[in-house]
Amino acid sequence: MRSFWYPKMYVKDLLSIPMEILPQNNIKGIILDLDNTVTEWNSNYIRPQVAQWFAELKSRAVQLCILSNNGEERVVKVAEQLNVPYVHRARKPTSYGYLRALKIMGLQAENTLLIGDQIFTDIWGGNRLGLFTVLVKPLNGKEFPGTKVSRFFERILLKKIVSSQLVDVRV
Ligand SMILES: [Mg+2]
Repeated sequence: MRSFWYPKMYVKDLLSIPMEILPQNNIKGIILDLDNTVTEWNSNYIRPQVAQWFAELKSRAVQLCILSNNGEERVVKVAEQLNVPYVHRARKPTSYGYLRALKIMGLQAENTLLIGDQIFTDIWGGNRLGLFTVLVKPLNGKEFPGTKVSRFFERILLKKIVSSQLVDVRV
């Protein structure tokens, strides 16, 4: 049985997501985790390639929304630079923030992609709602100290995911 912890796809970073999967799966919007997915942990710096990637998706009329458990002060600084809506204090993996993001974009779960670097928050929550979930490698080693524990279990799970042949692995 496919576990709720298994993403649909596992790639190196958001730039590595093949654009063709969007029309192929009727994806009209993307919910994005912030820390270690769009930017490095607690950094407001957006790499030019990432800004370009956002612009490319907007030109394809794909809706975008940042979904972060972090506070508004932090999230708004990145969301404003990219000119995308956001949900802060999202309480992932509960459904609360995901449903808000879907409402903001006016989309159903089946037309929405979720990109995140954490299995037990981003992916778990996304799978429960039926989003097309994409796991990325965390951008760098630094992160919230409390995340270290879940990373230990993630490493074990990742080995199973990669060998399961149930996930489209492209790392
Ligand atoms: Mg993250």
